[in-house]
Amino acid sequence: MAAQAADYRADVLAIAAHRDDVEQTCGGTLLRMAARGLRTAILDLTQGEAGTRGSAEERAQEAAEAARILGVGWRQALSFPDGAIENTLPNRMEIVRVLRLLKPRVVILPYWQARHPDHAIVASLGYEACFLSGLKKVETETEPHRPFKIVYASLYADVRPSFIVDISPFIEQRLSSLMAYRSQYANQATGGGLFVPEEEIRERTLAEARHYGLLAGVKYGEPFVQKEVGLVDDLTLIPVQSI
Ligand SMILES: [Zn+2]
Repeated sequence: MAAQAADYRADVLAIAAHRDDVEQTCGGTLLRMAARGLRTAILDLTQGEAGTRGSAEERAQEAAEAARILGVGWRQALSFPDGAIENTLPNRMEIVRVLRLLKPRVVILPYWQARHPDHAIVASLGYEACFLSGLKKVETETEPHRPFKIVYASLYADVRPSFIVDISPFIEQRLSSLMAYRSQYANQATGGGLFVPEEEIRERTLAEARHYGLLAGVKYGEPFVQKEVGLVDDLTLIPVQSI
């Protein structure tokens, strides 16, 4: 990828446990931000070695292809153990190094309650890394940087979102980024009983996006939770119709 350059700076960084998490939960949002001219980046914390299908190498190629489709300028994967991510100081420091390199204003993390333990851990691990990253006394080769905003991608959580990002123009592209993981999602024999067919993934993806879009009065949307309250300047400009 051209933009793996050491001097890449990101406006928005999505941090996720597994390759293809971002494609499922906030890929449309990354596409929308890129369309606005913002620089986006993805940090996957594992290589995907625990997956039933495909090797870590295959998944690396697929992740690069998905990043291209999402218009993401920087994507890397750390080597935390797939299925056993822990919130330890060394792991927090590995993320701190990335935060200080990319200097994102916004960090997207998975929502803190999740079926997969890795997803739940990444919410607290990522938050604590963002905090540490701003501390002068935590020394690395690069200067401290604290992201301004942390939002949680809540697509798979049973929680009311704080806001929705309208991804209507990007829904097909987001779906393509997910289908770039041929080893995971393409119709095939291995693990056939365990994995849902391609058409089912398409239907499910569109239904979820439609559900969240409807909440905000748009066609397709992606949901997020923020811990802070919203701040309003002009009541007449608040979006999403009440009645
Ligand atoms: Zn995952």
